[in-house]
Amino acid sequence: MKQSKLFTKTRRETPKDEIAKNAQLLIRAGFINKEMAGVYSYLPLGLKVLKKIENIIREEINAIGGQELLMSSLHPKENWEKTGRWDSLDVLYKVTDSLERENALGPTHEEIVVPLAKPFISSYRDLPFSVYHFQNKFRKEVRAKSGILRGREFIMKDLYSFHSTKEDFEEYYQKAKEAYINIFDRVGIGELTHIAFASGGSFSKYSHEFQTISSTGEDVIYICKKCSVAINKEIIDKQKECPECEGDDFEEKKSIEVGNIFDLKTKFSDPFGLEYKDIDGNRKPVLMGCYGIGLGRVLGTIVETLSDDKGIIWPKSVAPFRVHLLSLDQNQKSKEIYDDLIKKGIEVLFDDREGVSAGEKFKDSDLIGIPYRIIISEKSLKSGGVELKKRNEDKSDIIKIEEIISKID
Ligand code: ATP
Ligand code: MG
Repeated sequence: MKQSKLFTKTRRETPKDEIAKNAQLLIRAGFINKEMAGVYSYLPLGLKVLKKIENIIREEINAIGGQELLMSSLHPKENWEKTGRWDSLDVLYKVTDSLERENALGPTHEEIVVPLAKPFISSYRDLPFSVYHFQNKFRKEVRAKSGILRGREFIMKDLYSFHSTKEDFEEYYQKAKEAYINIFDRVGIGELTHIAFASGGSFSKYSHEFQTISSTGEDVIYICKKCSVAINKEIIDKQKECPECEGDDFEEKKSIEVGNIFDLKTKFSDPFGLEYKDIDGNRKPVLMGCYGIGLGRVLGTIVETLSDDKGIIWPKSVAPFRVHLLSLDQNQKSKEIYDDLIKKGIEVLFDDREGVSAGEKFKDSDLIGIPYRIIISEKSLKSGGVELKKRNEDKSDIIKIEEIISKID
């Protein structure tokens, strides 16, 4: 992509109505646009990152047998009345059309997925299976001050699993936990992310959250010094020792909940009469699990935790481009190198803008945060090649043009 053609531009000034670092940096660098409080659009750079996160999640969820579908955003009121959540869920957006028909804008999809699955389940032989989608959710969040970490409209991956026995559910739950560990590792926040025990609501003892340590997080967790599993502050009063290893020495940290996994038992099967026939012909309720990850929440968490005072530092796995190629008045030579890199399948943002100073190009490059920067200047060419600098390191090297591929792969 040529930067001269990119319709978005970087901004020097911090948006006045944003207090969250993730939104400030992402808006300044041209990744997102704020439409109103808690509502953001993804611009070309932001969408590239979002799609990379989405693909990593897709690969890991497919690997545990998840079948991708796409459920609707507009939900029938009756489904929400059936579970009692039409009245009890305070974040639910209700919309009325010109014929006075009421619908919900989906904040989550149990009310759709359970009736959707019902006609396909009659016997234990139809189980287990799991389905998931990536989709916009709508919630009337009261606090929408954390940028894309807490949106009123946001994209979630939600996975739902269906089982006949507790053992089968538990085996899948364990697999989902491992898939989540892989996902957070692969997007670059694995080292900062802890599995945390949280309250399971009224149906099970615990749920598990994936909590990423960040000074700007809204949650507080207690990390066990022995096994590094954590407990959410909301349950710590009832839980004096680590549920994993019985350790009793904890470290308090602020954190961001990037994902969670939940044992639903028969909470949603019951209201919809979701049952199967067991091997003896007895009718039993289907057991369910649900597993969520907020894509924008993950993207925002990467920015919160991995940026510096100059801008964003993207991990290679989710960076919008691998290479930021900066031409300092050397557009012809740079264009040759750009074409060659593109031919070799490397994703490159080529700063070919004319009349923009070297200083401005460096500042923009730091702000946008692409992992490798290649600078082509008269000076570099005279010293035999191009200058290569990693976004997360201060030093730079002069390398030969032929060496570029091996240095960035
Ligand atoms: P929270 O405790 O942060 O309000 P939650 O427990 O209600 O979230 P779920 O309904 O289980 O979250 O959603 C699953 C995942 O979706 C969360 O782990 C988080 O990553 C993401 N998520 C939830 N609410 C939002 C939001 N308002 N904006 C962006 N992502 C969100
Ligand atoms: Mg939560």
